[in-house]
Amino acid sequence: MKMKAAVVNPKIDGFVEVVEKEIRPLQFNEALVEVEYCGVCHTDLHVAAGDYGQKEGRVLGHEGIGIVKQVADGVKALKVSDRVSIAWMYAACGACEYCNTGRETLCRTVLNAGYTADGGMATHCIVNADYAVKVPDGLDPAQASSITCAGVTTYKGIKVSGIRPGQWLAMYGAGGLGNLGVQYAKKVFGAHVIAIDVNDEKLAFAKECGADLVINVTKEDAAKVMQEKVGGAHAAVVTAVSKAAFNSAIDCVRAGGRVVAVGLPPENMDLSIPRIVLDGIEVVGSLVGTRKDLEEAFQFGAEGLVVPKVQLRSLEETPEIFEEMRQGKITGRMVIDMKKGHSDCCGACSGQH
Ligand code: NAD
Ligand code: ZN
Ligand code: ZN
Repeated sequence: MKMKAAVVNPKIDGFVEVVEKEIRPLQFNEALVEVEYCGVCHTDLHVAAGDYGQKEGRVLGHEGIGIVKQVADGVKALKVSDRVSIAWMYAACGACEYCNTGRETLCRTVLNAGYTADGGMATHCIVNADYAVKVPDGLDPAQASSITCAGVTTYKGIKVSGIRPGQWLAMYGAGGLGNLGVQYAKKVFGAHVIAIDVNDEKLAFAKECGADLVINVTKEDAAKVMQEKVGGAHAAVVTAVSKAAFNSAIDCVRAGGRVVAVGLPPENMDLSIPRIVLDGIEVVGSLVGTRKDLEEAFQFGAEGLVVPKVQLRSLEETPEIFEEMRQGKITGRMVIDMKKGHSDCCGACSGQH
């Protein structure tokens, strides 16, 4: 059986191509998922550009949502017709010190969808049944795709920030992750939120999402404004794809503040040692979320506290979506609808669509 998939271009030049691929047979404890939706995350651009290694031909995508069509021997966690996610946290060993202490995303043998395992930007995807998180009833599947990475990553990043109700949280970057981060910070954690970006349109949307204050760093010094207006943020979560944003985040927090690094530009940030020591600043990285974090992040979506803004596109449009994201033109998330533009059938769906 064949599937259609968006894969890393052989030149590893940041582009993708849509190809037909054979679906391999299922192995023990695996399930075959017919993908309904898959969001495009900036991490997909990093992978396609070879920022973290050469992944030629890899099926991208870690914001996948689909329906289980077939289960292999050994599967207990899922059944046919369940709606599940295909997340960056694709599978881990389940036995190491990280897996056994609630830090499974740090497992040294973890597999990541769309990076070290074939992902969800395809008509079909094979998942490890123990790691595909079920989507709750009442959550729109296209919106669920955004929560599968952008939502859970910011939800977890805010948890890691230690923010408490009524405190000020700076959300650097108001892109696909950032706008959901603003919503979780405001509606779930009860924080006051400052959104920082280089783009007025994204900041206007962040305001709609509940940001109390927005700052365009091309016009104002964000750290200075925050120090003057609110006495410095209690914490910052940096989702911006820019070293300048990480540096600004260090300067924007008050003494004892924590900076959570989430964005993944392949560069180094500057850290003033006196600033870190004398003002007791903490800097910590946060990587997606565990299965439990995703279950929680989904539930807040199902309860309507967090509403992802999604625009549906076809799989064939994936190369254009990558270009739009590279140029910073996307507000909210572009989500590939696997049924869209599917009339000239790929042969993978036996004409069902
Ligand atoms: P995106 O392109 O949708 O958003 C990035 C935003 O950063 C844009 O709105 C852009 O205008 C803004 N920006 C650029 N320069 C800025 C600056 N100097 N100051 C403030 N804002 C600035 O990307 P995304 O999908 O939201 O992903 C963001 C980053 O997070 C990527 O690097 C991605 O790889 C990373 N990521 C990390 C994790 C994790 O687990 N840590 C998970 C998902 C994504
Ligand atoms: Zn992602
Ligand atoms: Zn492990």
